[in-house]
Amino acid sequence: MVRIIVLRLGHRYVRDYRVTTHLALVARVFGAEKMIVTKIEEDVKKSIEEVENNWGGKFDIEEVENWRDVIKEWKDKNNLIIHLTMYGININSIIDKIRNEGKDIMIIVGAEKVPREVFELSDYNIAIGNQPHSEIAALAIFLDRLFEGKELEKNFNGRLRIIPHERGKIVKRSDSIDNSY
Ligand code: SAM
Repeated sequence: MVRIIVLRLGHRYVRDYRVTTHLALVARVFGAEKMIVTKIEEDVKKSIEEVENNWGGKFDIEEVENWRDVIKEWKDKNNLIIHLTMYGININSIIDKIRNEGKDIMIIVGAEKVPREVFELSDYNIAIGNQPHSEIAALAIFLDRLFEGKELEKNFNGRLRIIPHERGKIVKRSDSIDNSY
């Protein structure tokens, strides 16, 4: 499986708290190993650590000062840089080519206006449809298309594990089953 890293560009304190947290949650479940941020509230990290402690998997949040250096370093290793933007080319016309390249991918998503430079540094500027919506939805759809749904079958080996059920809520806690709800 190719390695996926998400680069979250920008974060407005307080206002973006939930969006950035959800972006990390989606990144973790849909197949990324890490999210790089330039600024973030400590509580976002704590929420993700709590999810990781209960539900397993390994997901890092790394704070960096200079996102340009991160992009350039990734490019120097001959990995792919993909920027999700409504101005890009439609995912439907390019996702098979990206998958076939089999390269590790850094996915850039914005919060506010993304600098022009990012459009130029990226190997692909990709639109999940050419209408404005949300970075959380864009990331989820991109990763789901890339992995063709297989990421949803991943076993996270967590302390808590859901036993899928048509109606009930059954959670297995390491060595016992809790079906009280
Ligand atoms: N004008 C922005 C743009 O360039 O897409 C929309 C800003 S939106 C609040 C924040 C982020 O959501 C964007 O930086 C982009 O990563 C993502 N996004 C929103 N709509 C998208 C779409 N249709 N396709 C891909 N990404 C999208």
